Amino acid sequence: MIHPCLRCGACCAHFRVAFHWSEADFGLGGVVPVELTEKLDAHRLAMRGTWAQRPHCIALEGTLGESVRCGIYARRPSVCRDVEPSWENGNSSAQCDNSRMAHGLEPLTPQDWIDFAAVNTA
Ligand code: SF4
Ligand code: SF4
Repeated sequence: MIHPCLRCGACCAHFRVAFHWSEADFGLGGVVPVELTEKLDAHRLAMRGTWAQRPHCIALEGTLGESVRCGIYARRPSVCRDVEPSWENGNSSAQCDNSRMAHGLEPLTPQDWIDFAAVNTA
């Protein structure tokens, strides 16, 4: 059984993913590929595709709700790292639940993580 996020991707196609421009400035230690961003305002960039009426991050690969991956996982913005999947650490996450429901997916439950752990520690 693969990680629930790799069968989802809903939060990468629900929010405007905005962050400080320095996260895409290699000279300042930034890692986000600047060519995948667009200027949002004087201080912020957004991942391309997420500042749209129907957001879909340019870095999201695969089929939402089936099999997905972030094409820049190791270089994704801080806001992406901050999104917690519901119940992975014992708490629900409104960002996760709302994203999934917007795409017709049921919110994750504690059982999803029990099942995931059972397969991956077997
Ligand atoms: S919506 Fe939740 S389960 Fe889906 S990719 Fe985002 S954090 Fe993971
Ligand atoms: S950068 Fe990766 S984790 Fe962040 S929204 Fe885009 S696809 Fe999702």
